[in-house]
Amino acid sequence: MNVYDSTRMADVMAPLGYSEVDSADDADLVILNTCHIREKAEEKVYSDLGRINKHQKASGRKMLIAVGGCVGQAEGEEIIKRAPFVDMVFGPQSYHNLPDMVFRAERDGGSVVDLDFAPQPKFDSLPETSLKGPSAFLSVQEGCDKFCTFCVVPYTRGAEYSRGAGEIEAEARSLVKRGAVEITLLGQNVNAWHGEGSDGKERSLGWLIRRLAEIDGLERIRYTTSHPRDMDDDLISAHGGVEKLMPFLHLPVQSGSDSVLARMNRKHKAGFYLDIIEKLRKARPDIALSSDFIVGFPGETDLEFAATLKLIETVGFVQAYSFAYSQRPGTPAATAREQVPDEVKSERLRQLQALLVRQQTVFNKASVGKTMKVLFDRDGKYDGQLIGKSPYMQSVHVHGASAHMGRIMEVIITGAYQNSLAGELLTAKGIEDRKYASLHHV
Ligand code: SAH
Ligand code: SF4
Repeated sequence: MNVYDSTRMADVMAPLGYSEVDSADDADLVILNTCHIREKAEEKVYSDLGRINKHQKASGRKMLIAVGGCVGQAEGEEIIKRAPFVDMVFGPQSYHNLPDMVFRAERDGGSVVDLDFAPQPKFDSLPETSLKGPSAFLSVQEGCDKFCTFCVVPYTRGAEYSRGAGEIEAEARSLVKRGAVEITLLGQNVNAWHGEGSDGKERSLGWLIRRLAEIDGLERIRYTTSHPRDMDDDLISAHGGVEKLMPFLHLPVQSGSDSVLARMNRKHKAGFYLDIIEKLRKARPDIALSSDFIVGFPGETDLEFAATLKLIETVGFVQAYSFAYSQRPGTPAATAREQVPDEVKSERLRQLQALLVRQQTVFNKASVGKTMKVLFDRDGKYDGQLIGKSPYMQSVHVHGASAHMGRIMEVIITGAYQNSLAGELLTAKGIEDRKYASLHHV
């Protein structure tokens, strides 16, 4: 989501003559697009600010310095108090006002704070999304009403909000026209998306995916991040029926213990999650699963932690993100008395990650010898090397493929590592012509 927001900020500033530079040191305007989800991310903002200010002083050149994103939203004026050289502070829902903020900061000598909270004006006034490759993000939903007791998102990103179906479809069509082959629908709780069809009927994400799948030239659809409670049957059945919906799902569970899930206010039990996985696998047997985990949530006992390991063993994930619980000011769990000591959290995280890495490695190794469709979307480190994505979100490195940037090609997997695969083009030009003659975006 932050990558998407950063792209959009650049899009907003482009008409004013701003373009991206590789290093903050060369910039006239530096925007830190920040994350508030864990304490570490927040602290990084202040250390980065210190470094940028040092450079500004040494160079004798005035830069405009802005803090955007969720730390901006959460801390507002506090940031300017703590770092008075910061010129602008804004939140994730007000970056469409950037040109005006820059104007005011230049005119008044800084201290512009814009923490406006309504997402619709933002979408109404943003320019067309720029496209940096064959894979595009499309924001369909923002904010969250779930209030998990550990999480700052409902406070920093605001209430749940769905963009209109017509507006989303128009943006998807425009992205595809300009070369997008894959679209990832984005939202903090993307599967809470709901809207109306042209018949006025209430619709959910499964319907939206089916509608977008009708766009010619769009080959791959993904969505992230989902909440288990919002995995309705229609969405699950879309995984079985919509060929373009990729067989990969990031579905955070956080814990495998019902008592921890209840204290987290996750609104589901472990069994509910396992039932969804079973239904998904029935609909799409090869679906690969990813998740988020928090260890050391307040009061988490050894037994409760063991339940999380058990859930991981039962499901088998192909990748995952895992975190030690971090106390976030203003959230209910932050003031719970039974905080878990740091050493215990670290040890649990080590065990959990070791298990997840084993599962990921097993999955990647099992890919060797298979032929997969890979969408090439990045240059590799070496000359002539391209990196692409398999349907299961694995990064695949291929030599001698440079002519195929932006295309989906058949690749035979020849090597597997923890985080990536190596492969060779199933070159035979004949195969390429036969399979992809219908793709108009080359
Ligand atoms: N909406 C998604 C996740 C959004 S936040 C969901 O409901 O699952 C991304 C991830 O950050 C979360 O899934 C969680 O694992 C992690 N996270 C959020 N708050 C945290 C905290 N206080 N400490 C540690 N990890 C946290
Ligand atoms: Fe945070 Fe996700 Fe829970 Fe919302 S559903 S409060 S974004 S973890």
